[in-house]
Amino acid sequence: MGVFKEIVTGAASLVAGMGVTIRRIYRPVVTVQYPRQRLTMSAAYRGHIEFNIPSKYSPPGCVACGICMRLCPTGVIKVQGEKDHSHEPKRVSLYFIDFTHCSLCGLCVANCPVEALKFSNEYEMAYECRWGGVVDLIKRWEDTR
Ligand code: SF4
Ligand code: SF4
Repeated sequence: MGVFKEIVTGAASLVAGMGVTIRRIYRPVVTVQYPRQRLTMSAAYRGHIEFNIPSKYSPPGCVACGICMRLCPTGVIKVQGEKDHSHEPKRVSLYFIDFTHCSLCGLCVANCPVEALKFSNEYEMAYECRWGGVVDLIKRWEDTR
């Protein structure tokens, strides 16, 4: 009697398990076959900051005022600028961010007086060394031109 009960219980368990499997087979696939498939990130996604460039050939609008650098609560922004003539505004000549310590608070983006920053859609941020998370925003801009 004990063996018969075990067979019935095992069969019922098998049917229940197969039922779950069969129901899953007909549901839409949500797994992304990365890296052959890439996700389109939502507008609300926050990757590291980057220059907010209105068109492909525009230069960064950053005037190197340093507000973002002074506001950043974790001090991960380094920005410098230069000017060709005394009557011209400064142009950014160096802009680094150490994304490994960025809290994505958004203070830099929200307080830039010329709206020169935005959050990127970047999500491929695996590093091979501790400095891999340091992003050169000027180089990134130049690479996308
Ligand atoms: S990104 Fe904006 S806030 Fe930061 S230095 Fe440039 S102009 Fe100033
Ligand atoms: S999002 Fe916040 S923590 Fe990150 S760089 Fe900007 S001000 Fe700094």
